[in-house]
Amino acid sequence: MGKLVIISGPSGSGKTTVCKLLEKDPLVKKSISVTTRLPRHSEKNGKAYHFVSTNEFKEMIRKGELAEHAEYCGSYYGTPINALREALAKEIVYLLEIEVQGALQIMEKFPEAISIFLLPPDKKTLGQRLMQRNTNKEQDMELRLKIADKELEYRDRYNYCVVNDDLELTVNTIRKILDLA
Ligand code: 5GP
Repeated sequence: MGKLVIISGPSGSGKTTVCKLLEKDPLVKKSISVTTRLPRHSEKNGKAYHFVSTNEFKEMIRKGELAEHAEYCGSYYGTPINALREALAKEIVYLLEIEVQGALQIMEKFPEAISIFLLPPDKKTLGQRLMQRNTNKEQDMELRLKIADKELEYRDRYNYCVVNDDLELTVNTIRKILDLA
């Protein structure tokens, strides 16, 4: 039986980088979400996300193909349930890098899931990281910062909170939580 792991945290907390480093372990695999957001330059369909239209997304909800879904910054995001079930049938660690509304749905459906909330060291760093990313429009960035405040309120609902100040330390802490050697 695999391990289901939720990783949440505000945009700019470093979730994607942390997940990429965790994925270097052959035992770790990350779920590929479905989204209606437009791809960023370097994002390939089927790798970063499965990019779909709003109609396609709604059809997936109707058919029960998503384990959870949520709206974030005007786009929809969701976790395909079949891939999740297949992953759990194997002895792997399956990462869901998702925002809090979706995380709460997974916690309810899969109480055995291990949930980790990644915190930025402080708000200034969060803003700087979002600016450096340079892929978000200014308006989008402001909205992401506002959502970050809301998301932080949910951190107590998670099994673990990890402050992502030093990347290597963060990854090692999470590897320990997940019993990865
Ligand atoms: P981004 O647009 O920066 O790729 O993602 C925006 C937010 O959506 C991030 O917090 C990310 O973790 C979250 N997200 C990505 N995939 C999913 C998903 O399948 N479900 C939910 N609920 N959130 C997701």
